Amino acid sequence: MGTVEEVRIAKRTGFCYGVREAIDKAKEASAAGKVTHTLGQVVHNEGVVRDLQAMGIRTVETLDDVDHGAAVVIRAHGVRPDVVERADQRGLEVIDGTCTWVIQEQRELVRLVEDGYTIVLLGTPKHPEVVGLLGFAPDAIVVDDEEEWDAAIPRRKRMALISQSTQPPWKFERLAALMVSRAHELKIVNTVCPVTIRRQQDTMDTAGEVDLMVVVGGRSSANTKELTRLCEIAGTPAIQIESVRDLTDAAVFADTRIVGVTGGTSTPIEDLRDVTERILELAGTDDARRRATELAAAALERAATPAGRTTSLPTATTPVASGAA
Ligand code: SF4
Repeated sequence: MGTVEEVRIAKRTGFCYGVREAIDKAKEASAAGKVTHTLGQVVHNEGVVRDLQAMGIRTVETLDDVDHGAAVVIRAHGVRPDVVERADQRGLEVIDGTCTWVIQEQRELVRLVEDGYTIVLLGTPKHPEVVGLLGFAPDAIVVDDEEEWDAAIPRRKRMALISQSTQPPWKFERLAALMVSRAHELKIVNTVCPVTIRRQQDTMDTAGEVDLMVVVGGRSSANTKELTRLCEIAGTPAIQIESVRDLTDAAVFADTRIVGVTGGTSTPIEDLRDVTERILELAGTDDARRRATELAAAALERAATPAGRTTSLPTATTPVASGAA
């Protein structure tokens, strides 16, 4: 018999608003009868991509795969400006799903370039958001791991620091502190996304209440890895999985009473419910096992408060009696 009595889902999880908007825009275009493509996977989540495919929305890796006149959705991370120009030239309908926060980052970068700053961009090199940002500031110096900062950051009279949206705030602050000694004038533009900050806080809060954390998200997702790291800093063991399918070993939950679940910005909150249900089925007490579906639905309901809701949830439809006042 298992020992897990309860599973708690961290609040304010599920898609961030940027990802949700991009998905909604793709669905709306398709529903309006447009031949719709997304440039790159709109979200790194197999289930969502499959749903979109079922609606006829195709993922393409390059604009060359999109027929003249079709619609192409730019995903939340944004793209280099020349990609949009090329799409226009090819007669494609560009539906811009770039997150408003990322658009703000791009504008800030343009300003910094115009003002002549040497720009340091904290981000994962090759991440689509960083690739897109470099289109606005090709000479920016991209740095990621702390060990490389010392060698990569020059001494300049006027320097500016800016960040990819999902970088951890502590890292941004540490880099800013280092750069103070490297420049006469240092401009700091804090573009760490508030959704990232809130999610990290709520994950830490949940980690503080439970015996074990399960972090759900892409293996290569930096923001997911950071959540796992934070759980461990909070003193709670954590395992990271991509999807419910990875949960096969009940031994992971041996002697565990309360489990917490959190997820990255590309993980739908409904996936967290499915993970919750699976944990209860796999390692729950007799009672928890029996009520796994009900308990998972309740955990989702508690996490998805209106203020914290970051993904559209199916809402129960209340039948309206005909002729009712
Ligand atoms: S993490 Fe923040 S900036 Fe990035 S897409 Fe989501 S809401 Fe936008």
